[in-house]
Amino acid sequence: MQERIRNFSIIAHIDHGKSTLADRLLEFTGAISDREMREQFLDKMDLEREKGITIKLQPVRLNYKARDGKEYIFNLIDTPGHVDFTYEVSRSLAACEGALLVVDASQGIEAQTLANVYMAMDLDLAIVGVINKIDLPGARVEEVREEIQNVIGLAAEEIYPISAKLGLGIEEVLEAVVKHIPPPQGDVNAPLQALIFDSYFDPYKGAISYIRVVNGQVKKGDIIRMMSTGKEFEVTELGVLNPYMTEVEKLEVGEVGYLAASIKNVGDTKVGDTITLAENPADKPLPGYKVVKPMVYCGLYPLENSEFEKLRDALDKLKLNDASLVYEPETSEALGFGFRCGFLGLLHLEIIKERLEREYDLSLLATAPSVVYKVVLTDGSEVEVQNPKHWPMTQKIDRVLEPFVKASIMVPSDYIGAVMELCQEKRGRYENMEYLSKDRVLLTYKLPLSEILYDFFDALKSRTRGYASLDYEISGYEESDLVKLDILLNGEIVDALSFIVHRENAYYRARAIVQKLRKIIPRQLYEVVIQAAIGSKVIARETVKALRKDVLAKCYGGDVTRKKKLLEKQKEGKKKMKQIGHVEVPKDAFMTILDIE
Ligand code: GDP
Ligand code: MG
Repeated sequence: MQERIRNFSIIAHIDHGKSTLADRLLEFTGAISDREMREQFLDKMDLEREKGITIKLQPVRLNYKARDGKEYIFNLIDTPGHVDFTYEVSRSLAACEGALLVVDASQGIEAQTLANVYMAMDLDLAIVGVINKIDLPGARVEEVREEIQNVIGLAAEEIYPISAKLGLGIEEVLEAVVKHIPPPQGDVNAPLQALIFDSYFDPYKGAISYIRVVNGQVKKGDIIRMMSTGKEFEVTELGVLNPYMTEVEKLEVGEVGYLAASIKNVGDTKVGDTITLAENPADKPLPGYKVVKPMVYCGLYPLENSEFEKLRDALDKLKLNDASLVYEPETSEALGFGFRCGFLGLLHLEIIKERLEREYDLSLLATAPSVVYKVVLTDGSEVEVQNPKHWPMTQKIDRVLEPFVKASIMVPSDYIGAVMELCQEKRGRYENMEYLSKDRVLLTYKLPLSEILYDFFDALKSRTRGYASLDYEISGYEESDLVKLDILLNGEIVDALSFIVHRENAYYRARAIVQKLRKIIPRQLYEVVIQAAIGSKVIARETVKALRKDVLAKCYGGDVTRKKKLLEKQKEGKKKMKQIGHVEVPKDAFMTILDIE
């Protein structure tokens, strides 16, 4: 049985067609019928479907009758492509023996293609190359094949041209999985070791873990032990996703499936933990996962202060489905009680906020995102600051360090100049340039993470007409001339709007943000003065004039239904506002520093 199992992930740069290939594999193997088929079937979350991107890894089991006449079991894991979700990819890969590397025939190798391949290679996975979208008029199959051979080092016969959209070449890919990807190792008679590679909270069944059995077997009714905590539970349900949850009696070595054990406390099942049996336990856990460190922090506050506990519960539950999320309670003078949360990037932040709002019915406010700075004080001690509120007084600061990243930027050679100019503007330091083929280069720069977070990616895309792709990883801390910028409304600092900025950019950013705030803060009964200041020095100012009486007067008289509608609308509007002192501030205002150029 074991030698008929194949466990593999689909990896690629974003939009190269991973989820569409997964669709075709599901279809070809009959896992879903034509009637059930919908595009990107495995992108189950509403958010994924709306945004057209994969956010969560998604395992599925397929039965494939190969040309050799034997029945195989494929456990395939579809993965996200965006750099913020690399952790999902690494966890998926750790549950597999192989990976299908999808490369778009018109785009060629891009930044995340390489990043993902390196991860797969680090884990010694077998890699099968797939050139997708050969139906496109701009497809450059032969060139891309050469790129994959030269840059990644696959042999020509390990690369398969397909069109996931039209369903061309799918059977060849399935055969390639049988041929190139080895079956799982492991001993069915050894004590159980199962890796938890993902989990989520089900209101009826409790915590559900997605597991990969590495040794031994687990059956319904077994008493399992979580190796990191020693806590024990009885297995209430085991199953596979094919693609729907289907119960099975046991999961054996090499298999991928889900496990429920009436685990109500979400802290009791940790992604990366090893499950063993209470009777005859394994003597050591599997290697598990590296703990990922958040790159960016922001405050999340319920719009209604009464929803603080609800937010805590929601975060606890969501954490189960996203182990990279970290949070702790914090208070803000302007916003009341909330949580300081750490994320892997801005898209991650946006997704988590949206999931909290949708899946847990909350209305939230996010404060300006911040990276983690290191401030060396005049007394020689060092503090980490991930909330501008905790920025020390200027007199006490000796020097400041900020996180830098090593950025890998891939572009057609025509755009080298444009990219270099942009990196220069963003305080980047040139490191290296390498030709991947005769007209595609890989540029390497050291850049401050904060610059990458703000608008780097958009600027990069627009200056290269969409042709550049970017990947980055933290390289370390470097000294920078940074200051804290405060935003004041009618003379009072709004702590939730403060942010840290490079001194050279302070004036520009200050002006941009007060102008932006003037546009989005609605006129109210009082005049609203918006200022930006470094310490006590105001460096930018705007005012929102008070409403004139006759504007208010318009609300009176007129027909009743219209008036009702107006009132309703106002009420709706109010929900999206936060009262700060006398000023009503739209909830989106707190993220405005992200929008400025
Ligand atoms: P992912 O981000 O790698 O999962 O990519 P998706 O599977 O979501 O596909 C991204 C886009 O490429 C979608 O609009 C697909 O319809 C399209 N696409 C995927 N495969 C093909 C293909 O073989 N040919 C063409 N023309 N488009 C494709
Ligand atoms: Mg996808």
